[in-house]
Amino acid sequence: MRHLAIVGSGPAGYYTAEAAVKAWPDAVRVDVIDALPVPFGLIRGGVAPDHQSIKAVSRRYEQVALGEQVRFVGNVAIGGDVAVEELLELYDAVVLATGAPEDRRLDLPGESLANVFGSAAFVGWYNGHPRFAQLDPDLSGKHAVVIGMGNVALDVARILAKTQEEFAGSDIVAHALAALSDSGVEQITILGRRGPHQIAMTPKELGELGRLERAVPCVDAGDLPPVEADAALEPGLRKSVALLRQFAAIGANGDKPLVIHFDLFAAPVAFTGTDRVAGVRVERTRLDGDRAVGSGDFYELPADLVVTCIGYRTSPIKGVPYDERAGRFVNAGGRISPRLYCVGWARRGPTGTIGTNRPDGYDVVERIAEDWASDGASLDRKGRDGLDALAAQRGLDIVTFRDWQKIDAAEVAAAREGAPREKFVDVPAMLEARG
Ligand code: NAP
Repeated sequence: MRHLAIVGSGPAGYYTAEAAVKAWPDAVRVDVIDALPVPFGLIRGGVAPDHQSIKAVSRRYEQVALGEQVRFVGNVAIGGDVAVEELLELYDAVVLATGAPEDRRLDLPGESLANVFGSAAFVGWYNGHPRFAQLDPDLSGKHAVVIGMGNVALDVARILAKTQEEFAGSDIVAHALAALSDSGVEQITILGRRGPHQIAMTPKELGELGRLERAVPCVDAGDLPPVEADAALEPGLRKSVALLRQFAAIGANGDKPLVIHFDLFAAPVAFTGTDRVAGVRVERTRLDGDRAVGSGDFYELPADLVVTCIGYRTSPIKGVPYDERAGRFVNAGGRISPRLYCVGWARRGPTGTIGTNRPDGYDVVERIAEDWASDGASLDRKGRDGLDALAAQRGLDIVTFRDWQKIDAAEVAAAREGAPREKFVDVPAMLEARG
């Protein structure tokens, strides 16, 4: 019997577990370990609360989690409670599927002013991640600025723009719903340092902005390249640019109270204000090839709230080589060092959809199979029994998948009308819900 530890219970973790079970039916035991008492990582804490159909993929992970060979080990932090070296003693292979939960920073003056947040923190707040549930952003001001032209910027802008009724059927947490219902935001500016042809927004997600109850998207027609130039774009981007053209044609018509303005060719250079943010200093840009270059023309946008959505970084783990520039573990095709691997965003950085993690998971299992084939017989490592002994010795309180099912049932039972669940937003409450 081989023993495999997967650190992280998000999409990359569960696709890897699924691939391992398929590769070695009855010949591998898999422990999926998570620092939180609740599974599914990005699905629970990152995917927007009004995108329930995307969250449905967790049912597939549940099937894997309930299989005989797989165990969920919640509430155990690797790199804190247990070291990676200790896992390597206990398991034949360790796969880091820890995602990219830290914000990339712009490193601009004023970035630490109050009410400037990174998207990991802001998204974590409205999704009830225990680390960010207390964020308490001030939404009373008129002007919100969202930085970045990717799908996370769209998520943040849409969540800020929705009415209480538009959150029906979502699992947005109560504290965020209350704050958003009371919001004073009247203008959301999405700031992009490059142009329409360089956006990273996908058409389905961009299209949603055109169907909001009280908000209208607005694009400056002058920012759009000649329509003939769209022909050279790949089909997805071409559709997104066509949507920007539609938004430019609507204009900021006065019948909706909230405007979502796309400010393109606009790079933030500083945040201004005394304690709290009051503005963003912006430099107009132009393209030099595919790169944005400053024009020397500056202006200031009013900003009472800023959310930077410019990408994420993997959290470093003691003893694991880390690529500071790329913000992920140093690896060659998923291999970090003998018997230590990484997968998903921890391997390749924060790009792609949830489904992109599936081939990643299958791929890393192939690498492990190659390495196991060449390293001969298993050394009879202790696997999960060894982890249980270590946990008992350290007084760790392991949360099992059955425990999670009780937490899940309690969240479902606490849901407001029409919502799938009301999440627990702190670890003690999650642990208590196990009964
Ligand atoms: P992203 O797609 O990489 O977009 C990041 C944006 O930030 C880009 O527009 C980038 O502009 C901009 N940016 C980076 N550095 C900047 C700087 N210094 N100044 C100004 N702008 C800067 O990242 P993301 O939005 O965080 O999304 C991460 C991944 O999750 C993506 O693959 C995304 O598609 C996926 N996702 C999917 C969904 C969904 O399918 N519903 C929802 C959320 C996220 P440049 O291009 O100029 O660098």
